[in-house]
Amino acid sequence: MHVVIAGAGLGGLSCAIACRKCDPPLKVTILERSPEFQPIGAGIQLPPNATRIMEQYGLLETLKDVGAVVMQNHTLRRYSTGEVIVNKPLGARAKQIYGAEWMVIHRADYQRVLLQHAQNLGAEIQTGAEVEKVCLILKDGQRVYGDAVIGADGLWSVTREHVLGRPSPPVETGDLAYRGTFTRSQLRQLNDEKVNKLLDDSNIQVWLGPEKHVVFYPVRNGTEFNLVLIRPDNLPSNVRTFHGNLEEMKDDFEGWDPTLRTLISCLSSALKWKLCHHSELETWVKDSVALLGDASHPTLPYQAQGAAMAVEDGAVIGFLLGRLQGNPVLWSEESGKDAITTTLKLYEKLRKQRTTVNVLGAVQARVFYHLPDGSEQLERDRLLSELPESRWESRSKWNWGDAEYQQALLGFDTLADAAEHSHKLFEG
Ligand SMILES: Cc1cc2nc3c(=O)[nH]c(=O)nc-3n(C[C@H](O)[C@H](O)[C@H](O)COP(=O)(O)OP(=O)(O)OC[C@H]3O[C@@H](n4cnc5c(N)ncnc54)[C@H](O)[C@@H]3O)c2cc1C
Repeated sequence: MHVVIAGAGLGGLSCAIACRKCDPPLKVTILERSPEFQPIGAGIQLPPNATRIMEQYGLLETLKDVGAVVMQNHTLRRYSTGEVIVNKPLGARAKQIYGAEWMVIHRADYQRVLLQHAQNLGAEIQTGAEVEKVCLILKDGQRVYGDAVIGADGLWSVTREHVLGRPSPPVETGDLAYRGTFTRSQLRQLNDEKVNKLLDDSNIQVWLGPEKHVVFYPVRNGTEFNLVLIRPDNLPSNVRTFHGNLEEMKDDFEGWDPTLRTLISCLSSALKWKLCHHSELETWVKDSVALLGDASHPTLPYQAQGAAMAVEDGAVIGFLLGRLQGNPVLWSEESGKDAITTTLKLYEKLRKQRTTVNVLGAVQARVFYHLPDGSEQLERDRLLSELPESRWESRSKWNWGDAEYQQALLGFDTLADAAEHSHKLFEG
């Protein structure tokens, strides 16, 4: 079986690995628009549901070798003072309850590891290969044929148009993110006690404020740090990313924790990203073409789940197509096309509810993070500060503190679920 994947982002590469890990492996061609792999992006979190897949791919140690850092705590702070509202233990606790660790990494390092692994397993990658239409005609006129085509071409997917039969651009959320990094030595030079404390902790630090929040964590073995500043969108609607204005950034966070302001003033550059998401698409599959990741369910990044979901999608597609190829009754020359459609429909069924809950969860997280000062915010902070006493096993009106929601999100074993629910299709 030949699988053609449009897009070598994190989701497309996960799909390539999963397809090549089948026994026997599927033939995989990845078509990537960029002429070369640029170190795009800044930090990215790998919550336990993503690290579990990495473990299943045998890549956990490699990720650590290239600088992934295991997070010990998730700390929420008050925007104006930096005072800690609550400290959620991750570290050993994440491993114990969700079965996997919570890590952070530079996106470029993550992509490089997945790319090398996909290539080592035998996936073929064509760069500078921009898919324009699906029956896969490339911009340079070249036609590419595959038994299954996977649209892993991200937020502004062209494959999505093909599947839906109409344009369906992502929806602006009204928020944007500045993303920037700095080096540890740059921050150490400040000789600021409070900044040094932040550098010494392996924590995800979040400052919560009205309409805005800020996230800070280490990458590259703690030799660099990632800062994400979220604020209301002021980019024109046709602009997706833009160079951030450092003065604007400082002004935006006036009146915030002085330690955070010190960090912001250290940034020498930051990219501004328009944040989009998508309401549920009516379908992700048309014949032998399926969408994954941001092409099918782009989300606000407020639960750190966009790439995690893309990686899960890719793992499921590879697993299911591998099972199909291994079934000589279903996978035959005459009925192969129909069987691929049936298999991809099963993928859609397995993934749609989970990813929809996830996109909506990020919308709730936006409300939770951005409450204006007042009674609701005081109530939120009070509820959060009471959580550690209940040892994180209780329910909460906010997903962030709700043990059941977090377990379903982070403790879910995607491949075990796919194995269980595909049994009927492949074993009769
Ligand atoms: C500020 C911010 C912070 C985030 N933080 C996190 C986080 O902490 N954790 C997390 O899990 N997620 C996070 N995300 C979300 C995450 O980055 C995305 O959800 C994820 O990268 C989507 O992966 P993908 O493979 O679907 O798409 P992409 O990574 O966008 O990859 C798409 C690929 O397709 C290629 N392509 C596009 N069009 C074509 C074409 N026509 N032909 C061929 N190739 C094409 C592109 O060049 C690209 O390589 C964050 C996002 C933002 C904006």
